Amino acid sequence: MLWPDCLNRLKLDIKESNVASWLLPLHAKEEEGTLYLLAPNEIVCGIVNENYHKIIQKHIHDITGDLEHKVTILVGTQVEQKASSLQKAGTKKISETIYQPNIDSNSMKKRTFINYLNKKMSFGNYVEGKSNQLALAASWHVADNIDNDYNPLYIYGGVGLGKTHLMHAIGNQLRLQDPEASVIYLHSEAFVNDMISALRTNSMDKFKEHYRSVDALLIDDIQFFVNKERSQEEFFHTFNILLELNKHIVLTSDTLPRDVKGLTDRLRSRISKGLSVELQPPDLETRVAILRKKSEEAGLHLSNDVAFFIGQRFNTNIRELEGALVKLIATVKLTKTSNITMDVVKHALQDQLISLNSKISIDLIKKAVADFFNIRIADLDSKSRKRALVRPRQLAMVLCKELTQSSLPEIGRNLGNRDHATVIHGNKKMTKLIKEEKNMEEAYRIIKRSLTN
Ligand code: ADP
Ligand code: MG
Repeated sequence: MLWPDCLNRLKLDIKESNVASWLLPLHAKEEEGTLYLLAPNEIVCGIVNENYHKIIQKHIHDITGDLEHKVTILVGTQVEQKASSLQKAGTKKISETIYQPNIDSNSMKKRTFINYLNKKMSFGNYVEGKSNQLALAASWHVADNIDNDYNPLYIYGGVGLGKTHLMHAIGNQLRLQDPEASVIYLHSEAFVNDMISALRTNSMDKFKEHYRSVDALLIDDIQFFVNKERSQEEFFHTFNILLELNKHIVLTSDTLPRDVKGLTDRLRSRISKGLSVELQPPDLETRVAILRKKSEEAGLHLSNDVAFFIGQRFNTNIRELEGALVKLIATVKLTKTSNITMDVVKHALQDQLISLNSKISIDLIKKAVADFFNIRIADLDSKSRKRALVRPRQLAMVLCKELTQSSLPEIGRNLGNRDHATVIHGNKKMTKLIKEEKNMEEAYRIIKRSLTN
């Protein structure tokens, strides 16, 4: 028998637990030079397709000696064809069995494991410093997969300090050690969106099965779960199941679990049982080390003076530091400058340096906008959809995006706890209005001048 023979060979290549979880549940059927493997559900189907299809195919070629012999993996059950429909079709015999997929090919594609890991963020290019020592050590511990003492691992800290990078590094490392490990990285908003679409399409069972069958679940920025109780509830259940199964969970957020607003007590207390580690703003030495590493990667040499000058100025977060370096590299390449002097740096970074000096905050922008339109700052935060308030609010979004270093979610949070999709929408709308309506263009120009002069 072809499949039992093949299974015996696979058992020599693949971990026993994986054979039991993914290969034994398959039901095999031979038909016209194709081995059909029927998976009981989409998860098994997706995993086998992604991880084992090639090796199964190789063994089948070896056993049959026929390079044309195909292997097809489907979700399906074996069904007997009814005589009438067969006769109508006129092609198959009554005794023949066909394989009926339970789902359409689109949804099958969706259920295969997409891990969303960014390969560019690894431990290899993460610079260690005092500010991230503990978080880095804890992340390595999880990634090394020796034991699961720190579960969940909760990494917190301000914007641009390297939380997302560490999370991807953990996921990539887990996959490096075991390419078959199913690791999912997701922003908390994507988790919520996925759940909403599962609710809408009546496929909550699949949703649950999907998330509850992973080896590691990495959820970024859980502060955006704020007030989404149903999602939190769902996440909590998934979370408990994965913890019981001793699977890894890594979470990030901008503050300690106890300070994350809108988190249910149950979730908060469960998270607190793991390990929380903080990423602090990097000290000067680490900032310079990061600059050096990143500039070397780009094939650029920075003198000590230049590296310290940039490191000293861009001192709040690493994203900002990177932004400055990217600008410098672009300028140097465009102008074909070979000697990166202080003058070159000051000239290339003049815009960034000005905005650093002026330190325009979201609060300052809100005040300027409220003053101009003669409304209260609280009106900008309010839920009101009155046009007289929506427009100033959207204008504030545009100005915050342009004049501060804040991320879109951060801008949204500071404007009445709106999500970043709302900020994107507001920005788009207002940018268009500024171009089309004289009044808005004037408001924009006057407020911006009052802030930047
Ligand atoms: P956060 O998720 O905390 O907002 P990110 O992980 O997105 O921050 O980091 C912002 C940028 O800084 C990313 O491009 C990341 O690769 C880089 N970065 C952060 N910390 C380090 C570090 N220690 N070494 C090298 N690059 C870093
Ligand atoms: Mg992040």
